[in-house]
Amino acid sequence: MEQTLSIIKPDAVKKGVIGKIIDRFESNGLRIAAMKKISLSLQDAQQFYAIHRERPFFNDLVQFMISGPVVVMVLEGEGAVAKNRALMGATNPKEAEKGTIRADFADSIDANAVHGSDSLENARIEIDFFFAKREIC
Ligand code: GDP
Repeated sequence: MEQTLSIIKPDAVKKGVIGKIIDRFESNGLRIAAMKKISLSLQDAQQFYAIHRERPFFNDLVQFMISGPVVVMVLEGEGAVAKNRALMGATNPKEAEKGTIRADFADSIDANAVHGSDSLENARIEIDFFFAKREIC
């Protein structure tokens, strides 16, 4: 069993597709082990995306992530990291395969509906960033 972190980003929350996105996870064998709707602070967003600090899109990314509430979740299941990435689709929704979350709900590479951990190691770090042990069950 693996756990991975998913974020429904501000664009998808504003569109009212939280339920539709969660359905993709639950219909594909990923269990919601933890979930909360929160507003990230500037510091939260900068720290969460610190790996992209030097990239030209860093400020746009951080500003976008604090532009409205997000839903953060721990997804659990067999091969959860890869399964979530497959369900999400490519970073740029224009390149995302038909039927993926980003192809169906995202508008642009900035406003691309969801985040998902890209490795088991990062999943652990990202889950610890958002959730206390007792919130995961
Ligand atoms: P992800 O794992 O598919 O979310 O992609 P990355 O970890 O590489 O990038 C994190 C987030 O930064 C992406 O989800 C995008 O919202 C944003 N991003 C990545 N690459 C670009 C880019 O070239 N331009 C812009 N504007 N945003 C980007």
